[in-house]
Amino acid sequence: MSFEKLGLIKPLLSAIKELGYEHPTIIQKRAIPLVLAKSDIFATAQTGTGKTAAFALPILQRLRHPLEHNNVRVVILSPTRELSIQIHEDILSYSTNMKVKTMILVGGKDLETQKRKLKEGVDIVIATPGRLLEHIENGLSLNSVEIMVLDEADRMLDMGFTKDIRKIHPLLPKRHQTLLFSATFSEKVRKLSKLILTKPAFIETAKKNTTVDTINQVAYLVDTNRKAELLAYLIGSRNFPQVLVFTRTKASADELVIELKKDGLKCGIIHGDKTKANRLKTLTQFKEGQTRVLIATDIASRGLDIENLPYVINYELPSIPEDYVHRVGRTGRAGRSGEAISLIDVYEKYDIKDIERLIGLKIPQEVVEGFEPDPNIRRKDVDEVKLKAEHKRNSAKKERQYNKNTSSKPQTRKQVKATKKKRKTTKRD
Ligand code: AMP
Repeated sequence: MSFEKLGLIKPLLSAIKELGYEHPTIIQKRAIPLVLAKSDIFATAQTGTGKTAAFALPILQRLRHPLEHNNVRVVILSPTRELSIQIHEDILSYSTNMKVKTMILVGGKDLETQKRKLKEGVDIVIATPGRLLEHIENGLSLNSVEIMVLDEADRMLDMGFTKDIRKIHPLLPKRHQTLLFSATFSEKVRKLSKLILTKPAFIETAKKNTTVDTINQVAYLVDTNRKAELLAYLIGSRNFPQVLVFTRTKASADELVIELKKDGLKCGIIHGDKTKANRLKTLTQFKEGQTRVLIATDIASRGLDIENLPYVINYELPSIPEDYVHRVGRTGRAGRSGEAISLIDVYEKYDIKDIERLIGLKIPQEVVEGFEPDPNIRRKDVDEVKLKAEHKRNSAKKERQYNKNTSSKPQTRKQVKATKKKRKTTKRD
């Protein structure tokens, strides 16, 4: 299928042609006609599937006729400053042949300057929920908003933006279109979707919490104290041009930079303690190829759009299995191939099982010659961990059984009585 067949207008078609997009991705094929038809959408799509264009292209088409007023017509909410910038850049490149005004409202920039620009008239704002609310308190009206997008909704909720979104939603006009994109299908997202979506069309481009097929995933077993050495060895011996490396904590990210620098590797580091300006500068340096290794914690694992990133390395597995999906989603974007390598020590052998359960895939475990784990190193708490895992499995089994036995429909008093009576009879029998 071609982009023309999706009904996109010429200014957009020539812009995407210039970007080298030949065919729409699955999410684009499914979402573009629905957005043009003004339907609400609930889409589970991972980063890297082309989801930004899936909402941005039809939105731009909807805005092609300018209106008399100067008010905001589209609000795109995103969890982080980095993702907002990425969306903004994408929209600018799609709208080169159109007269649509877009701006970013994120923290770290002067509120007054943003207010002045808003007054001059803006069609699309891309905002983090907190900063948007600040502007609303300062007089920004959402009365003319036609479309609201929630990008990476699960991440926004995980980051504690639920209250902000609940405050923003009632300020929109009654008739508006909402497009919700989420990488995972969590309970929190489902709850929010019920509140903010009206008769949404569901789009599920990948199975729940799956990783993209084109990503080759492998785990290398290694002792904790040899991880940095193995990482440097892999980068050097396999001649990785650029790698994105994830650590679980800020402290281990800081320690790793020191270790890798000793091996002469040029590194950048992005985590929550770095200022926004610093994070952005580091990202730009990585994108421009000035650094070979970018070390990041999970806060940075979303919203980073780096063209053609072939390797992602989990120096430590994330504490939340869902974050694994987001981390490895940094590679294998838009159908390209990629490799996700996890370095796992004896403490992470159980964590990887949770990830495998989530993604429904077995990640092969291998050993790199010269880095074989010391068989004498055992988890001190191994029995405790086994017991915990068993307990977890049993409770999950019980819950599944319980859910099977209980009807989801509320029962009438008469039905409850009948069930109780039946139970009693069975007991006696
Ligand atoms: P996203 O999932 O929106 O973060 O997009 C991932 C990457 O795929 C971005 O670099 C886009 O520029 C690129 N992309 C989006 N749609 C297409 C397409 N139809 N063909 C090729 N690349 C695309």
